[in-house]
Parts: sequence; C-alpha cells; structure tokens
Amino acid sequence: MSYIIAVDFDGTLCRNQYPEIGEPNNALIEYLKMRQQKMGHKLILWTCRVGDRLEQAVDWCQDRGLIFDAVNQNLPEIVESFGGDCRKVFAHEYIDDRNSGMGNSLIRCVCDSSKSDTFDLKLNEYERMIVISAMLEILTHPPA
Ligand SMILES: [Mg+2]
Repeated sequence: MSYIIAVDFDGTLCRNQYPEIGEPNNALIEYLKMRQQKMGHKLILWTCRVGDRLEQAVDWCQDRGLIFDAVNQNLPEIVESFGGDCRKVFAHEYIDDRNSGMGNSLIRCVCDSSKSDTFDLKLNEYERMIVISAMLEILTHPPA
C-alpha cells in the first residue's frame, strides 16, 4: 500500500480567506512536492470546497506544481482493499489547520468564538469547568 497524505486547503495550503484563496504556504507546498516526488508518497486534497471553488483550488495548486493523486476521494488501491469507497478518506497522515491536538482543540472550543465558522459551545460556568477538568485530565494522564 502506498503511503498516503491527506491535506486540507484553506488555512493549510494557503491562508484562510475562503471563499477567496489566501497567500500560499510555500513551505508546505514544497515539502509535499518533495514527499511525493522523492519519496513516492501519494497526496490527496481533502477540503470542504466543492464545485467551482474546488476547481479553483486544484488549479491554484497545479500552477504551483502540486498535483494531487486524488481530490476528496480515496485512491483506487484503497477502494479495492476496503471493498468499497468509504466516506472517510483514508490516509496515514492528515495535515489540517484544525488538527492541533486534543488539548488545543478543547481550548479552541472553549475560548475561540472569534471565527465565524467556529462552533460556539455557549457553555455556562459549570459546563466550562467540566470541559477544563476533562482537558486537564487528558493533558495530565494522556491515553497510552
Ligand atoms: Mg482548513
């Protein structure tokens, strides 16, 4: 099986200015090209973009020499080995600006409602204490 990397677009390959396309993350783009070209790793674009916005993103990447092996879908070898095309895109690595670890995710859920697309939990003081306690528990006793 190939080594597969799934990578997000907005906020990851470029600054998040959705629906526009932000400044490129050139370091990541070059890194992924190296992984693909020198190491033979497969790249999947893994994004919420659809339709024209998706097409623009794929073209934008292609202009920078970043060519995906699949876009929002599994590689044929995965479809074959799983006996179908499951809805989750399978990868060995997921590179996503939303993937910053359990602790950070919890902190963001509690503290960061500044971004319009961030889920607002609207916690009361008691619920906030429970979340913070759970977060501390995870941080002090990480799962084995
Ligand atoms: Mg993103």
